[in-house]
Amino acid sequence: MKTIFEKSNGVDGINLTDEKIDISFLDSSFIRRDELGLPQLGELEVMRHYKELSDRNFCIEKGFYPLGSCTMKYNPKVNEFLASLENFGNLHPLTDDADCQGALELMYKLQEALKILTGMDAVTLQPSAGAHGELTGMMIIKKYFEVKGDLRKKVIIPDSAHGTNPASAKMCGFDIVEIKSNDKGQVDIEALKSVLDKDVAAIMMTNPNTLGIFEENVLDISRLMHENGSLLYYDGANFNAIMGYTNPCIMGFDVVHLNLHKTMATPHGGGGPGAGPVCVTKSLKEFLPAPLIDFDGQKYFRNYNLKHSIGSVKAFYGNFGVLVKAYAYILMMGKNLKNASENAVLNANYLKEKLKKYYDLPYDEICMHEFVLSGEKQKHENGVSTLNIAKALMDENTHPPTVYFPLIVHEAIMIEPTESETKEKMDKFADIMIKIAKEAEINPEKLISAPHTTPVKRVDETLAARHPDLKFQG
Ligand SMILES: *Cc1c(COP(=O)(O)O)cnc(C)c1O
Repeated sequence: MKTIFEKSNGVDGINLTDEKIDISFLDSSFIRRDELGLPQLGELEVMRHYKELSDRNFCIEKGFYPLGSCTMKYNPKVNEFLASLENFGNLHPLTDDADCQGALELMYKLQEALKILTGMDAVTLQPSAGAHGELTGMMIIKKYFEVKGDLRKKVIIPDSAHGTNPASAKMCGFDIVEIKSNDKGQVDIEALKSVLDKDVAAIMMTNPNTLGIFEENVLDISRLMHENGSLLYYDGANFNAIMGYTNPCIMGFDVVHLNLHKTMATPHGGGGPGAGPVCVTKSLKEFLPAPLIDFDGQKYFRNYNLKHSIGSVKAFYGNFGVLVKAYAYILMMGKNLKNASENAVLNANYLKEKLKKYYDLPYDEICMHEFVLSGEKQKHENGVSTLNIAKALMDENTHPPTVYFPLIVHEAIMIEPTESETKEKMDKFADIMIKIAKEAEINPEKLISAPHTTPVKRVDETLAARHPDLKFQG
């Protein structure tokens, strides 16, 4: 496909005026001497050009998007409509409380809904992403120990954790203590005990963990931590595994973040901004970033009256549009949020069972909303790496799963079908994965040189990320 510069044919798309504009009042040094060099095309050709470009994009409306950990489910379009309603979209963040009761009510009720879902006692909607929520949560934990006069330096993190966990704890000045997973892909209790001392502020856990496996010893873990005076942080980015079935409060956690842009069906990645609310137990409420959205029985208001607040973590009150979409989704789903979790887990187990005959499954357990295969067999027997498999999927018009994460699985292929996919779609995806596994045995060269049908073929991943070449050299 040609660039719009190459397509330029000198046709004026639009004529603003035929009159010569008098520019004699301008200092001559500011007047352009050469052509501007913008492409010139008729309106229809411009439309076609951009339509063709947009058709090259992959999106959920086009196909399956099985990115493990990222939860690329369908985001109902009605949410976009509601977020763009004039009274939401045009609201100024400095409006007095009295003049934005509707927006405050929405935020308050969203907080209440998240309290029910997590079992926690107080919520801040400020953080604008999962990692931002983690940072907020760890700042709260840090301040909690400061106020107690019990300075603790260490945070325990399992080796299966999302990379943002150690990064967030480190940014708060904590030292990271990594613990190994056991052969069931879960936190090894003995390993935990061996590092637990009075310098441990908290453990950061994901449950189900990033292998998609539920930590069955979580109650023992929370008891051990609390007996040690330590707190428990819950990474709830992928909450679609447990909604309505259990919650972090029951499991004994003190601080939780949620990714509204994963679980609550608001678009993310290249598709839009996120929100990473943080929910805490009663004893940590006073540490939340001010203001909280509160209700005095008659009016909704911004409550700045928090004794130990860590301060603000975002200008104004968070990504309001995302909050509208998430609240709309929660209301629309109602009790069906529980069904969403049920289907997310059922779908993942269905696909896992279909694929485990063809790919290694290092932790062969009942999974939650996602599971992790390994491309080790294909790599050792056929020289076809997980990266090659991911590229080959693109030739089949399928978005690749998350690859090479979690780090504890070699050649990891992390698959999350989400609750929004039908059996037919999953069968189709499984057929393609099986076809690729067979191809690896008979024609590995084809996979090693994939993709063959995409506009851009194999790129140098590092170079493409670090030195993207975005300029057209005419
Ligand atoms: C996505 C994710 C995060 C980070 O969320 P962002 O919004 O991308 O910052 C953290 N933990 C887990 C388990 C995740 O899947």
